[in-house]
Amino acid sequence: MNRNTQLIAEIVVPGGHARAFEVKEGQLLEIIDVEGQQVADFFAFNEHNHWERLSPSHTFTALKSLALRVGDELRSSLRNRMLKIIKDTSPSHDLLIPACDEQRYLVDYGVTGHRSCVQNFEEALRPYGIGRDIFPAPFNFFQSTAIEPDGRLIQEPCRTKAGDSILLQAMKDIIGAVSACPMDLNPIGGSKITDIKIRVYQQT
Ligand SMILES: [Zn+2]
Repeated sequence: MNRNTQLIAEIVVPGGHARAFEVKEGQLLEIIDVEGQQVADFFAFNEHNHWERLSPSHTFTALKSLALRVGDELRSSLRNRMLKIIKDTSPSHDLLIPACDEQRYLVDYGVTGHRSCVQNFEEALRPYGIGRDIFPAPFNFFQSTAIEPDGRLIQEPCRTKAGDSILLQAMKDIIGAVSACPMDLNPIGGSKITDIKIRVYQQT
């Protein structure tokens, strides 16, 4: 980070859990894969209108691409610009797969009582009065989903290494939340569930 930025918040998201935080317009949000191969599900809400939420489908429609690049502007459900990618060292991100929830573990794996990203987000966003009824689809940072020429989707282990990160600039005042996805029943998270680190910077 250059000398014109000041770290104002650092949050560790424990593996398998979530944390929520505020990022004001113009501030920078860094999401770091501490040990590598950890999916970070990400939600963002307009702080002043929670109904406006960051939207993967509105973003890939505007970008005409399922791959994210430095300089891309991520769109909201109202098609406004919410966050801009300033730097990115991750080999891939996923814009297609819904957040895991209780039903994902029950219906697809026959497992009850497993933590999930949706449960994590409910816990983290409750203090902001944001509930499941307005949860959007997530940006799955660091996740690797291969799209075959015939359209088949293959969920692969993340290709991130320790310390890989994405740096975003807020284009609105947002409430953000990150879940260090607890999925350990398919290979997306590598061999273990690990922490994600969040940093918020003020630009001076
Ligand atoms: Zn998950």
